[in-house]
Amino acid sequence: MDWKKKLDKILSKPPLANEPMSLHTSLRIGGPAEIFAVPQTHDELRNILQLACEHNLPLFVLGHGTNLLVKDEGIKGIVLSLHDLSSGCSFFDHRVRAGAAVSLSRLVREVAERSLKGLEFAAGIPGSLGGALYMNAGAYGSSIGELVREVVTLDYQGNFRVRTLEELDFSYRWSSFQSEKVIILEGVLELEQGKSSEIKARINEILENRWAKHPQLPSAGSVFRNPSGNIAGRLVEGAGCKGMKVGGAEVSPQHGNFIVNKGNASAADVLTLIDLVKQKVKDTYGLELELEIRVIGEKGSE
Ligand SMILES: Cc1cc2nc3c(=O)[nH]c(=O)nc-3n(C[C@H](O)[C@H](O)[C@H](O)COP(=O)(O)OP(=O)(O)OC[C@H]3O[C@@H](n4cnc5c(N)ncnc54)[C@H](O)[C@@H]3O)c2cc1C
Repeated sequence: MDWKKKLDKILSKPPLANEPMSLHTSLRIGGPAEIFAVPQTHDELRNILQLACEHNLPLFVLGHGTNLLVKDEGIKGIVLSLHDLSSGCSFFDHRVRAGAAVSLSRLVREVAERSLKGLEFAAGIPGSLGGALYMNAGAYGSSIGELVREVVTLDYQGNFRVRTLEELDFSYRWSSFQSEKVIILEGVLELEQGKSSEIKARINEILENRWAKHPQLPSAGSVFRNPSGNIAGRLVEGAGCKGMKVGGAEVSPQHGNFIVNKGNASAADVLTLIDLVKQKVKDTYGLELELEIRVIGEKGSE
């Protein structure tokens, strides 16, 4: 039996064939996923992993698609969404245990409602907890890795593992998950008791600041990592790239490190624009910018 028929039997929610990834990314760009699967139980998830192993199929774990540029050619194999599987959230002591699919915005809100402090920096960062842990998302001098106490993962052989602090490693927009093949299922964050009014005031301040600074058109957030001692957005601006366009993609005139989709941009437009910006920054400052967004898909870089 071919693998797609086997997959139909494994999943209680029918998988989608040729699902446009533009529907699942904040940039609103991306060719089709060969198969888009949304497992409903851990057993279904493990059966998918077994099938992928048997048939040597590529797997891609999608969070909320807010840090991704998916190529126009799409993604071969199976794109996995944990949307229906890891979406719970519970509190104990000063800790929160949350599923990978829980949005950071919900976590920020729920934590604040309990007067717990420490996660305010994440206000306004879109995406899921799983994506945030994988990327070590951060802002305003803090990042999520500092709060993590435990992460539950499932490796591609189907083994669950609870990782404690000592087994995890985070640095600037990097986590040890980026160098292994695992699915993040849930995480435990440790917070501190705070004052509700102060926590809410800080969140509002951050949200207002982000609203003023960030473009409102579709984007994937910061395109480039900040080189050591520098701010990528300032380098892009200093190299005269703000407002540069290729097709429907534009370096935001508002924020140099954002590339926005003006309506009909392709991944190829964005990639060409990225190359142009990198070259201009190199010519101006002699610095090689590195990508923060993840470029995935056929002929992709992952
Ligand atoms: C307007 C805007 C503002 C932003 N501001 C910030 C900011 O201030 N700071 C910041 O750090 N980022 C920012 N980002 C980028 C993005 O929101 C974060 O990187 C976010 O944490 C990505 O989460 P996601 O769920 O969307 O992940 P996705 O984009 O879906 O995936 C990102 C990577 O994580 C992997 N991944 C996702 N979930 C899992 C899982 N459960 N198990 C294993 N791997 C997984 C994916 O395979 C992929 O490689 C911004 C983005 C936008 C659009």
